[in-house]
Amino acid sequence: MQPKFDLNKIKFVTDQPTFEKAVNLYENGKVSDFQEKFDGFSARVLGGNFYQVSISSKNFSQGSCDCYLGQNDYICKHMVAVAIHAVLGGKPIKKEDKEVFYEPKCSNRPGELSKIELAKTQKSISGAMKYIKSYNGPSRIWFAYQDSLIEGCNRLSAIVSELPVSRQTADLLVKMLLRLDKKLCNGGVDDSDGTVGGFMEELVNVLQEFSRIDHGCTAAFKVLKNQETSFGWEEPLLKLAYGIINV
Ligand SMILES: [Zn+2]
Repeated sequence: MQPKFDLNKIKFVTDQPTFEKAVNLYENGKVSDFQEKFDGFSARVLGGNFYQVSISSKNFSQGSCDCYLGQNDYICKHMVAVAIHAVLGGKPIKKEDKEVFYEPKCSNRPGELSKIELAKTQKSISGAMKYIKSYNGPSRIWFAYQDSLIEGCNRLSAIVSELPVSRQTADLLVKMLLRLDKKLCNGGVDDSDGTVGGFMEELVNVLQEFSRIDHGCTAAFKVLKNQETSFGWEEPLLKLAYGIINV
């Protein structure tokens, strides 16, 4: 039975330390007695003790583990290790699959995307944007909702960090910022944890890096003039586009 999740999904919903510990457990053969059940998987994981873990094949975060965190409904490293085993079936985990992007970074690589790459990137941006959705649920799903915002921002971070640097990709990132801003202003996104706002600030830093590598990128920032934004994140970019004047 193939799980409904893949390694990307696991990475994007798990925080970095938990993911790294889980990879460690998996690589060191601590997952044993792996079994398929009718709706999921179970295994024993050797940590400080032997822990009995079971996860759903649809969503590994719906599972149980008898460690302290698992008993308190957190996603623990044992559940994540079993999820990795469900995806890879014991095969080695590739180096690039162990890498996690939790902050958008500048690739420092000048260049443009081909037409096909651009279309592919736009599609994955739209896919990631769906996780940054409006909140209208009861408070008991508040944490799940925040996880969705985190997953969306993590997915976007991974996309951004792969982009070459040019006016073309700067345009793409400016559009991304405006889309996120729209979601914050009137898209019903409840960002009280500051996940989306923090991501946007990091994205502005990436764009500043872009303009250092390729000065032509600053032209992409001009569309931000006279925009009403949620928290003035565009100011450093306007300074780069127009010089240090009142804009
Ligand atoms: Zn556990």
